[in-house]
Amino acid sequence: MRSTSAKTRSRTTPSGRSIKMRKPKKPGAAHCALCACILQAVPRRSRSQLAKLSKTEKRPERVYGGVLCAACSQQIVKEKTRLATGTLLRSEVPITHLKYIQGMKK
Ligand SMILES: [Zn+2]
Repeated sequence: MRSTSAKTRSRTTPSGRSIKMRKPKKPGAAHCALCACILQAVPRRSRSQLAKLSKTEKRPERVYGGVLCAACSQQIVKEKTRLATGTLLRSEVPITHLKYIQGMKK
């Protein structure tokens, strides 16, 4: 099957020959670790192109920015606060969320 992500374009060489050049593939988008939705504000660039960006251009400046989406990190913060105040029991929190709750600063 023909790849749709590898783009080819024709270029004329200095000697006048026509050649097909293949554009490098773009890396896939970053996904949320919990709901697997595509993360916003995380650029789709190669490693060398990412190195040219500043730290704050690479991911959101938020707890778990670049790992979890906004909705999931909001839920994690809510659950952490409710666990701390005692309104939510540890058994009521989804087991996949516990890792992120434990990883947050006090
Ligand atoms: Zn998510």
